[in-house]
Amino acid sequence: MVKINENYLKLQNSYLFSTIAKKVADFQEKHPDKKVIKLGIGDVTLPIIPAVVKAMHQAVDEMGEKESFRGYGPEQGYDFLREKIVEWDYKKRGISIEKEEIFVSDGAKCDTGNFQELFDTNNTIAITDPVYPVYLDSNVMAGRTGKFHDKTQKFDKVVYMPVTEENGFIPELPKEKVDLIYLCLPNNPTGTVLSKGELKKWVDYAKENKALILFDAAYEAFIVEKDVPHSIYEIEGAKEVAIEFKSFSKTAGFTGIRCAYTVVPKEIQINGISLNQLWNRRQCTKFNGVPYVTQRGAEAVYTEEGQKQIGENIDYYRENARIIREGLEKAGYTVYGGINAPYIWLKVPTGLTSWEFFDKLLEEKNIVGTPGSGFGPSGEGYFRLTAFGSRESTIEAMERIQ
Ligand code: PLP
Repeated sequence: MVKINENYLKLQNSYLFSTIAKKVADFQEKHPDKKVIKLGIGDVTLPIIPAVVKAMHQAVDEMGEKESFRGYGPEQGYDFLREKIVEWDYKKRGISIEKEEIFVSDGAKCDTGNFQELFDTNNTIAITDPVYPVYLDSNVMAGRTGKFHDKTQKFDKVVYMPVTEENGFIPELPKEKVDLIYLCLPNNPTGTVLSKGELKKWVDYAKENKALILFDAAYEAFIVEKDVPHSIYEIEGAKEVAIEFKSFSKTAGFTGIRCAYTVVPKEIQINGISLNQLWNRRQCTKFNGVPYVTQRGAEAVYTEEGQKQIGENIDYYRENARIIREGLEKAGYTVYGGINAPYIWLKVPTGLTSWEFFDKLLEEKNIVGTPGSGFGPSGEGYFRLTAFGSRESTIEAMERIQ
């Protein structure tokens, strides 16, 4: 008889955003006249920039001609895109990355979720708490997390690193030995960052403990402060101990187009086995590459025109973040993030849980956010708002709250 993977039964609740969507749909059914402002899910709202639209149109035309039609592309991504990534995201920042270390994919969600496949289930994982849920859930599915305890809301084989206002949202190095460390910077959900000096401690820890850092930099384009690294490879020695995940989703509004990339340095050897070769093998077996048209679109981001246009969109979201931060502060809330990231992390008023605050905000102000507890037990008492809405709805939301 067929048996299912019972690890899936250990997953907690449904995916956070489906629960939110259901609550909002129920509310709208009861109150069809109310205009709900959605500042919950981290999805962009501005259209694709003209440089990308033009490049994708051209690519579609090429696909419609016998001479320029292309079928399956390289699983790792076309050289034209990998070379631009190397040049613009690394070389211009003084970082040496080879084209063969870049693996183009259809999303950082899949890559961060899939990468754990390369490791034995006996490895210990460390995640921040709160955390982007994909890191934990993908390890739960793989059977790496042990038993879940209702009381603590924790898995017994996972090392949770709290990031709260008590430690300034800076995770402490684990006291126990861990093998795989997930870091997301700028952080989703807290919107906070680490300085180069703080990140160096993690690289040093990984080297000393033969651990691997899985560094998710999906929000890198939002960084404005000087001392905040745009890539973990700005830290000396990181190429020996870190994988980096990047995405065009938030950088260039590709959430619906789907393109990202993962850097797997050739230096990383585990017991003499090259992780670069292992990931290459995994991708060639399970993935057939990102569409040609999409990759031509991503390539257009790496032009003067493309950079200028995505910069304008990011500035638009940054301004929304400022409006939210200042609006909430004016209304008496304590807020974090929103400077180097599109997320604003606020403390919910005393006496309410994150979900109670969610319900109150939806019922009374018709605003949707994301309860902090959905990202982990230490997210309880916090709430996330995103800067990805329209300017009008962001302003209106702040007026309603005030
Ligand atoms: N990583 C983090 C931290 C995210 O917040 C998100 C999306 O919200 C992703 C990855 C997913 O990126 P992609 O759209 O490339 O799958």
